[in-house]
Amino acid sequence: MKKNIKLVSTITNREYPFERIEEFADNGESLEVQIDGLEKAKIKDGKFLWERFTDFLPFSKIDESISLGEGNTALIKADKKLLDFVGLDNLYLKNETQNPTWSFKDRGSLACIAMAKEMAETVTTTISTGNMGNSISAYGAKAGIKVIVFVPEFTPKEKVVAMGIHGATVMKIIAPDYSEMKKLVLSLAKKLNLRIVSGNGPIRVEGYKMTSFEMFEQMNKEVPDYIAIPTSACGHIRGIFKGYKELKQAGIIDKIPKMIVVQAHNNSPIVSAIKEGKKQVIPFSNFHTVAEAITTGNPMGGDEIIDKAYKYGWLAEDVTEEEIIESQKRLAESGYFVEPASATSLYAIKKLREIGKIEKDACVVMILTGSGLKDSEVLKYHKANVSEVKLENVESILSKIL
Ligand SMILES: *Cc1c(COP(=O)(O)O)cnc(C)c1O
Repeated sequence: MKKNIKLVSTITNREYPFERIEEFADNGESLEVQIDGLEKAKIKDGKFLWERFTDFLPFSKIDESISLGEGNTALIKADKKLLDFVGLDNLYLKNETQNPTWSFKDRGSLACIAMAKEMAETVTTTISTGNMGNSISAYGAKAGIKVIVFVPEFTPKEKVVAMGIHGATVMKIIAPDYSEMKKLVLSLAKKLNLRIVSGNGPIRVEGYKMTSFEMFEQMNKEVPDYIAIPTSACGHIRGIFKGYKELKQAGIIDKIPKMIVVQAHNNSPIVSAIKEGKKQVIPFSNFHTVAEAITTGNPMGGDEIIDKAYKYGWLAEDVTEEEIIESQKRLAESGYFVEPASATSLYAIKKLREIGKIEKDACVVMILTGSGLKDSEVLKYHKANVSEVKLENVESILSKIL
């Protein structure tokens, strides 16, 4: 089947050709892929997720050799400790730290690199606080595409090292603000005829959609009531929503989950806007948060999320630095070592439950977006029971502990 595909701006529905090299519409709105005839889309047989859901995807075909085995991550019910902490009966954790570069970004990178291959491009550039750069570097290395990454100064060294080892060219940009840096770099795309992928590009979002397809299969075609997503550039949240929305369009499911937009209190451009009933992002600058993976202070395309939040009844919550650290600790006590950005959702869900915005018996999924090992700096906030013991004292000390 030859698909008719275009890009559409997400608020005012302006149309662009699918081949557009810029990530956003001329008026700054996010772009999304629209495939004609989705009403007739079917789930097919196939080994890979992208084969089974090929009707929903804009690629003519994904070359298996560019995959690093992304996806197939665990969806596990929270244990009693976590359920008691948030006050819910049904909380599930979708563990995206099990991806090849330890974050959900790999699903989007597969899509971006598949697109670059399809367009016969030899260089891919990205702007990242870390995980995205790490992920694109790995997928570029496998596909034989040169990768250039722009990172802000505050990027943790673990993430920079992880880009470098795959052979990417990494530039640490000294800029007063991450959003400003992003805007400047993105504006170079047309001038240099270079695809510069951001966290919120239309192709990346197609990769994130596959998370919903995977969860749909894992939950035996059930749809959760809420999905909590730590949000920064906004690509992830809109990808997951788009996946469910398209399954509904195809008549495969009859309800769509509500998203829970989660941000750090110190940088909550979208959540504050929703709480205050505003239609536009409230820009943040000169802030600090331990959740460095969610530090876009003025997200391009954030207005779309605010728009959708009102339209579809999404929830929004922010969390303080103390709450983030507490959540990271609670998750670790249940066996999940996630980075601070990922931990935000746990406390946000707890607070929304406390004020009655989430029903006790609702089915809630939180996405564990990235691995705790990506940021060792934050460990200074946690107590670890580590001591040095002389060999001759091991027995006596151990008996005391027991
Ligand atoms: C990128 C990232 C996010 C935010 O996702 P966006 O698509 O930028 O909104 C959240 N958590 C982690 C660990 C990330 O790497």
